[in-house]
This record gives sequence, structure tokens and C-alpha cells, in this order.
Amino acid sequence: MILDLRSDTVTQPTAAMREAMAAAPVGDDVFGDDPTINALQERVAAMAGKEAALIASSGTQTNLLALLSHCQRGEEYLVGQEYHTYRYEAGGAAVLGGIVPQPFEVDADGTLDLAAVEKRIKPDDPHFPITRLLALENTHTGKVIPQTYMQQARTLVDKHGLQLHLDGARIFNAVIATGSSLKELCEPFDSVSICFSKGLGTPIGSVLAGDRDFIARAHRWRKMLGGGMRQAGIVAAAMDYALEHHVERLADDHANALALAEGLSQLEGLRVEPAQTNMVYVNFESAEQAKKVSEHLRKHDIVVGTAQRMRLVTHLGIPATAIEQIVAAFRNALAQN
Ligand SMILES: *Cc1c(COP(=O)(O)O)cnc(C)c1O
Repeated sequence: MILDLRSDTVTQPTAAMREAMAAAPVGDDVFGDDPTINALQERVAAMAGKEAALIASSGTQTNLLALLSHCQRGEEYLVGQEYHTYRYEAGGAAVLGGIVPQPFEVDADGTLDLAAVEKRIKPDDPHFPITRLLALENTHTGKVIPQTYMQQARTLVDKHGLQLHLDGARIFNAVIATGSSLKELCEPFDSVSICFSKGLGTPIGSVLAGDRDFIARAHRWRKMLGGGMRQAGIVAAAMDYALEHHVERLADDHANALALAEGLSQLEGLRVEPAQTNMVYVNFESAEQAKKVSEHLRKHDIVVGTAQRMRLVTHLGIPATAIEQIVAAFRNALAQN
């Protein structure tokens, strides 16, 4: 068995998930005819406490739909330098929407300094882009963002008449870590994007939730981007299965990340950052050492990245019984490199 710790996106659909996909009633979703899609969208909208929801192929696409639906050409969104919606989506909002990003440094706890954000909200002046949206992220690099902070962000956007979007790719990890409901965590936001292809373990699929008018705009953008999928109920069936069977178990991933951090912190030559939800970051003494350890581990069927600050992610494919084996393999790899 290969233990792949690079990301929770490497999860394989389980046999039971594949069965649910095979059995799903489907229809043409571009006609609005897919019963499995329609049910899943309603279910997620209700869980998130929003009026409506829309399925898309990926989290990049649901985030893009959100930015395009909130902002017009020449309008601006406020965002973190390291947030996915700024750094990891190939500039889609600017390329496809003419939307101007205003990035901020991300603080160590994963938040943006709201006083700094407020200073950059542009007054109504023809020299400036029109500030329209603040885009946040939860979890960010595995860190759960405190809900009190999210409420402060809501107060700020209300003061200035802005919208608030959440990239909640891993929001269910925050649900499990905090014991809050999805609805509670989504409450301050006008829109929320949720990935099912990370810890929830589906092969593809994300959902965007928000009010009815917003989702109607996102629907048109999705069509324009070529994101209308026909008998996609087979994907929605996997997503529905994940809501039933793969949410509570995220607690196992969090426990495994803790155990992994604990085990690795005993090893010489490795600085381990505290585990956050399903992620552990370990720092090697040099980039070269990280690369050599990575190569050594791969020979023992353990797959990790090669960065000097290496991210290890626990998920469906990493059982609790494997943690000891992973720590032992790191110990051997470090001893030899
Ligand atoms: C993975 C991820 C996304 C979306 O990624 P896709 O691979 O396009 O589904 C968005 N935001 C964050 C924080 C992510 O980790």
C-alpha cells in the first residue's frame, strides 16, 4: 500500500462511493434535469444556511464563479497573498473578469490584518478601481480561522457596503475541529465555496452557495466557461455519499495528524510545527536533505513533497495504523541523509 502524504486530493473513491455513483439516477443538468444534482445542491444550500447552491467541477471554478458574480470589470477584491483565490488560480479573475486583486500579507494565524484591509478600501474616485469584495479562506494551510475574526470581517464589509466570500475548500475540517455547524461557520458570508475532492474523498466536485440571484449569475458564468456538465449526477452521488460517510471521519485525519506531528517531533534534525486539522509542516535543515529524505521515503512506498518546509497531509488513504510506520521511515531516512 502506498502512503501518499502530499495532499488530501490524492484520495481514491472507495468501493462504496463508486457503488453510489453507479446507482445514481441522472438527467441532463444543463436542462436542470438531473435529480441527483438538484438534491445535492438543495442539501448543501440548506446545510450552509444559504438560499441556493451550484455544483462545479473544481474549487478553482467555484471561486472563479464567485469572483465573477460579485465583481464587474474594473472592480476590486481584497485578498491574502497566500490565499488560493489570489495565488493558486492562475489569475482567472483578472484574466476572465477584468477584476483587480488587492492582496495583503497573511498573518501567522491565517488571517488578514483588518485595519490594513480597511486602509486599502478605495474611496469613490475615478482614479481608483471600485472595491467590491473581501475574500477570506477557512481552513488556511490547515489552520482554523476563529469565528470571532469572521464576524469582525463581516462588520468591516457592512460598514463599507462590500460583499464577503469564503473559500471554504476545507470548511468541513473546520466544522469537525470546532464542533460548529456548517451553517454557523458560513453565516457571516455572502458566498461560500466548498471542495468535495479534498478530505471528503470524491474524485471531483465543488459547490458554491449563496443567495438565489447570486447563484443565478454564477450559473450563467458557469455555462460561459464551459462548465455545464450533463449527466453529472454520478458526481453529485459521490458528493452526497461523502456528506453521509466522510465528514465525521475527518476527526480521524486530525487525530492522525496530531500523532504524526508528535512522532516526528521526537526525531533529530527535523523542526515540526504543531499539527493543524489534517496538516503537519516539517522543516528540514537544508533543501537538499528534504529532497534526499523524500527520495528515500518513496523507495519505501511513502510519497511526500520535496520542499524544505514539507507539508504532510492526512486523509482517507492514511490509516491510524500507518502513522508508526511513517515515523519509522522518516527516522531511517534522516539517519541516512
Ligand atoms: C484545493 C483548494 C481550492 C480548489 O482547488 P481545486 O483543485 O480547483 O478544486 C481552493 N482553495 C483552497 C484553499 C484549496 O486548498
